[in-house]
Amino acid sequence: MSEANGAATPQSLIREELLALSAYHVPASAGMVKLDAMENPYPLPDDLAAGLGALLGAAPVNRYPEADARALKASIRRALDVPAGCDILLGNGSDEIIQLLAMAVAKPGAVLASVEPTFVMFRMIATFTGLRYASCPLRADFSLDMDAVLHMLEAERPAVMFLATPNNPTGNTFARADIERIAAAAPGLLVVDEAYYAFGDSSHLELAARLPNVLVMRTFSKLGMAGLRLGFLVGAPAWLEQLDKLRLPYNVNVLTQIAATRLLDSYPALAAQAAAIRVDRSVLAEALRAVPGAEVFPSEANFLLFRIPRAAALFDALVARGVLVKNVSRAHALLADCLRVTVGTPAENRRFIAALHEAVADLG
Ligand SMILES: *Cc1c(COP(=O)(O)O)cnc(C)c1O
Repeated sequence: MSEANGAATPQSLIREELLALSAYHVPASAGMVKLDAMENPYPLPDDLAAGLGALLGAAPVNRYPEADARALKASIRRALDVPAGCDILLGNGSDEIIQLLAMAVAKPGAVLASVEPTFVMFRMIATFTGLRYASCPLRADFSLDMDAVLHMLEAERPAVMFLATPNNPTGNTFARADIERIAAAAPGLLVVDEAYYAFGDSSHLELAARLPNVLVMRTFSKLGMAGLRLGFLVGAPAWLEQLDKLRLPYNVNVLTQIAATRLLDSYPALAAQAAAIRVDRSVLAEALRAVPGAEVFPSEANFLLFRIPRAAALFDALVARGVLVKNVSRAHALLADCLRVTVGTPAENRRFIAALHEAVADLG
């Protein structure tokens, strides 16, 4: 009826590429052992939680937040080795920073590139912002196929390339020498996404100071602050100054600024949780390897990717037993029969392993 008088409909008005997308799906998880989203399974230590309650109660929520979040940036510098010559740009999660970068380079015909399989938001945000997405496959062991990457850079000339290391959903890291070769060959920016830096031994922050086209992105989501939504980008002031023009003025709210500043001042407590999760990861990997048919891939993140016959049916059987992991088996050909499980508490990990043994036995 609205079409009769020429009024807009979603189908007539919204960009075709958005109409064609399906929304990012977050499954219901109430009451389940939730091992699908790379969250830190531990609540805040009691003393920290108590102190935070008082601080947040006194927060000036009637005022706009401090626009450039000076105190929070200083805490990030104190907690992490941000190179002296680099600036910090804050985002409402690092997802927002990916979007900022994409918007900044979205000239007609511009390309955003990555490797596959990887973090799905790279492709989705390219679509949101009118960029063309280009990618090349990893090898079967999820390492970089350098010939393919260099060929892609040459053929597609991407304005920006994202490389997540450790990579999601595969868990492995990429070789530093390869990353430097990619930076040298890239005609545009290379953004190294270190969302999982806390669970491995490598840092590429130093590249942001040394190489003119490299920026390094991190998030605190996987370190126990997923609910606060805070990510950041490190790089040369000349790049960050331009990106800052696109940032909406108060993108990091006052409660997040206060809470994250306080938590980062207790960074050793957060780092200790990450260290415990690393130990639990190897216990979990060992238990998974003992499940009939399971192949477990190396991980420097807070999750494990494993291949197992009839993965999709096993995923459903796990849900039926109250355990939620992520079924990535249809996300890419290289991920056939793969599931991804976040490292939880030791008790959660044991429940997952027990449920998986039952499910495998039931499916016969
Ligand atoms: C989780 C994740 C992010 C995004 O995290 P935010 O919660 O938006 O900060 C970015 N990159 C990778 C590779 C991730 O896995």
